[in-house]
Amino acid sequence: MRGMESLREVLQHAASNGRAVGHFNVSDSTQFNAIYAAAKELDAPVIIGVSEGERDFIGVHQIAALVRAVREKEDYPIFLNADHHHSIDGCKAAIDAGFDAVIIDGAKLSEEENTAQTKQVVAYARACGRDVIVEAELGYIGTSSTLLDAVPEGAGLDMTTPELAERFVKATGIDLLAPSVGNIHGMLKHVPEPRLDIPRIEAIAQICGVPLVLHGGSGNSEEDFIAAIKVGMRIVHINTEIRVAYRSGIEQALGDDPEEVAPYKYLGHGRDAVKDIVYKKIKLFGNL
Ligand SMILES: [Zn+2]
Repeated sequence: MRGMESLREVLQHAASNGRAVGHFNVSDSTQFNAIYAAAKELDAPVIIGVSEGERDFIGVHQIAALVRAVREKEDYPIFLNADHHHSIDGCKAAIDAGFDAVIIDGAKLSEEENTAQTKQVVAYARACGRDVIVEAELGYIGTSSTLLDAVPEGAGLDMTTPELAERFVKATGIDLLAPSVGNIHGMLKHVPEPRLDIPRIEAIAQICGVPLVLHGGSGNSEEDFIAAIKVGMRIVHINTEIRVAYRSGIEQALGDDPEEVAPYKYLGHGRDAVKDIVYKKIKLFGNL
């Protein structure tokens, strides 16, 4: 009964095997099906993420029901995360709806404010009667999952120090930490992504004692992913690359047949393009 495995157990297995679990964002059920199909082909656990905007579009109960249906009816280790929720109320709503994990994103707040807000979400998660994983953020890495002309102003300037990471994890009781280690959200159009600071990731992972999460993975090199996973990244987030692939697939389909009106036909090309990207990432992150 693999589907009965909790996200916490999946992350423990990933740590003992030196692997990371892929986290992929969706705005609709077509992308969801693409991600699930890719994971299933590789027989790998997978995390579905919805940001506040994505969650409002698909519906908080609708996405919770989709993930639960696959986990329970198909006995599959698939999990749902509230990605970058900025309010305590947003996190509470996701927990109430049955999400497996939430990210309370206070990266733009002061350390005191971020700590206070995160503690409230941890307390709510612990009291909810299920094992809900809470992740928090340190250091600003930009906010948009889009194609960028340049690194967003201020992003990556306040890289997380091991001292701050240790203090923050202890003070908040979080399960997962997303540090700023050279990663940025979104994907640069004209130049390669900045390199990840591997020694910093290793130092943070060793001192803070919780699994680390790499955000803004779109555009990073395979070499950097492998090195980051080796030293403690246990979840890797991919969003922008999926968005780009989805749109290109649909554009191609509509370009090939401008008269096509059956959504399952033109969206199907978007689905296949997303599945392709996700398959490659899961294979890489899981060393499969
Ligand atoms: Zn992120």
